[in-house]
Amino acid sequence: MGKMNIAIIGYGGMGSYHASTLLPEEYYTLAGIWDISKQQRAKAEEADIKVYESLEAVLADDEVESIIIATPNDSHKDISIAALEAGKHVICEKPVMLSSEELDEVLEVAEATDRVFMVHQNRRWDPDFLVVRELFHNKQIGDIFHIESRVHGANGIPGDWRHMKAQGGGMVLDWGVHLLDQIHTLVDSPIAKVRSDLSFVLGNEVDDGFTITILHENGIKSVVEVGTTNFVKLPRWYLKGTKGTAIIEDWDLSGRTIVATDNNAATPQPIQAGVGLTKTMAPPSEEAAEEIPLPTPHLMNESFYFNFYRVVREEAEPIVKNNEVREVMLLMEQVFNEADIIN
Ligand code: NAD
Repeated sequence: MGKMNIAIIGYGGMGSYHASTLLPEEYYTLAGIWDISKQQRAKAEEADIKVYESLEAVLADDEVESIIIATPNDSHKDISIAALEAGKHVICEKPVMLSSEELDEVLEVAEATDRVFMVHQNRRWDPDFLVVRELFHNKQIGDIFHIESRVHGANGIPGDWRHMKAQGGGMVLDWGVHLLDQIHTLVDSPIAKVRSDLSFVLGNEVDDGFTITILHENGIKSVVEVGTTNFVKLPRWYLKGTKGTAIIEDWDLSGRTIVATDNNAATPQPIQAGVGLTKTMAPPSEEAAEEIPLPTPHLMNESFYFNFYRVVREEAEPIVKNNEVREVMLLMEQVFNEADIIN
C-alpha cells in the first residue's frame, strides 16, 4: 500500500518524540515539521528533518497525506480545521480540544471533508493498564468493584503553557484525560455520579492535581487522582474485587494480588494494634489467603500508528473512536463544572 507521508506540527517535547521514537518507519515517511519557535525549527534541522516555512506551506504540500498536531492544547482546533479543509488526515494530540463544542465543530469538518480525524489516546496501550484490563477479564480477584488509578509526581506543573488556563493548562486536561479515558474504556457502564476535588495549592490559575470519584451505574466505583506535590507517591493502581485485592505499584508492573482461598475455617487471630486489640483488621491467616503474581498483559494487536494507517488506507475501525473521546470530554466538563476546590 506504500508508506504514508506525514508531517508534524509542533516540534516540542511530544512532536520530537513522535518524530524520533514513535513513528514506525515501515508505514510512514516523515515529510517534515512546522513549529512557530525558531529554536525548535533549528533542532529539527539538526536532526536532518525538513522544516517547512509555515503551517500553510505544510498544508499546501500535496505530498503530505496526514499531519500530527503536537502543539499546546488551545491551538488544536484551528490547526485541525485548517488541515482537514486542506484535505489532510489528522492525528491530534490529547486533550483533543478545550470543550465538546470545539470538538463537535472539528468533527463536522472531518465529516464534510471525508478525512480521518483520530486522537492520540496512547495510554490505552500502556502495559499497566493492560494488566488491569486482564484482571477485569480473568477474575483473578473476582469481580472488580473498586478501582483507584493514580499518577503522583513532585515537580509541580511542568512547562509554561501548562500553567495557563487560556492555553488549556492544568492536570485534568493533561493527565486526567488519559486516566479518565482508561476508565471509560475499562468500565462498560454509564456514569451515575461524579465528584471532583481540584487542587490549586501551587497558586496557579489551573489545577495542579485532583481527585475525581466516579460511581458507575453497575456499582463500580473509580477514584482517579493526579498530584504534582507528592514526594512519596501512592501505587499506580489499587483494585478491590469480590475475591481479593490487586496492587500495581508503578509503570514497571511491580505489584501483586492477594486472593482468598476456599478455606473458610481459617479465621484470623486478633493482633495488637497500637494500644488496642483487633481481629477485624488482622491480616488474613496463611490458610485463608494466598499471593498470586499479576497476570501478563495481552498486548494490543496493533499500534496506534498502524491502526491510523489502516483507518486511512483500508477504512479499518479506529481503536480510539471519536465518540469515546467526546464522552471523556463531556466528563471533564462535568468535572470542571461541579468541582470543589481543596487547598
Ligand atoms: P511543548 O511545549 O514541549 O511543545 C509544543 C510545541 O508547539 C513548541 O515547540 C511550540 O513552539 C510549538 N507551537 C506552539 N504553538 C504552535 C503553533 N500554533 N504552530 C506550530 N507550533 C506551535 O508541549 P508538549 O509537551 O510537546 O505538548 C504538545 C501537545 O502534546 C499537547 O497537546 C500535549 O497535551 C500533548 N502531549 C501528549 C502526550 C501523550 O502521551 N499523548 C505527552 C506529552 C504531551
